[in-house]
Amino acid sequence: MLSTQRGGRPVAPEGYVGSEELLFGRAIGALPESASLAVAAHAALCPEASSIVHHHKAVAGALIETLDPAALDEGALDRALKAIEAEGDAGPVLPVAEPVRDGLDLPSVLRSYVGPDIEALRWKRVMKGVREAELPVSDGEICRTRLMHIDSGQPVLQHGHNGLELTLLLQGAYGDCTGEYRRGDLQVADEEIDHKPVAFGGEDCLCLVVTDAPIRFTGPFGRLLNLFVRYK
Ligand code: ZN
Repeated sequence: MLSTQRGGRPVAPEGYVGSEELLFGRAIGALPESASLAVAAHAALCPEASSIVHHHKAVAGALIETLDPAALDEGALDRALKAIEAEGDAGPVLPVAEPVRDGLDLPSVLRSYVGPDIEALRWKRVMKGVREAELPVSDGEICRTRLMHIDSGQPVLQHGHNGLELTLLLQGAYGDCTGEYRRGDLQVADEEIDHKPVAFGGEDCLCLVVTDAPIRFTGPFGRLLNLFVRYK
């Protein structure tokens, strides 16, 4: 499931919950590496999302082939077709040379960023029961891309967003005021969403999170925290 909340109003094509904007962006190779990684990993875990990406690719490819080459800049047609054929690569999918040691079933596109052992990443404690590890992406100056581990039963501080926040659930489950999310679900939250995700279900939560702007804490304690920290 892809769930996109725009001020609590889902933009839902028939039979699908959420906006197709990100899937379309992925299909035509228009996303920055951080978002492309999140959407590619989502499509690897969600057959519905994968079929929508392929649909958009086919439509965009057919559309481009109907264009009059004379009306385009020299090479523009080739560049556009190459972008689509590349399936919006999220960056080089490097084979992981060593056997996977952490036992986690991660999409290969994500595994190439994580390496063979997730515990070998540089994890930092964010708060009690919550830790995160940065992943290297080419647009890292603008977007933060990281894995977040939340202990079972642990709530994340209530917060709003100053931009987009993509959260792909890789393990476990969490819920907030917008619903419940499980492995393969991609939640897209924007400036109008204020939430307090809580890991539930007896299993720790592992997420891939991409943000393009600092979040703002909105709970009673969090408002005070904003005076001291700027957390993206
Ligand atoms: Zn959030």
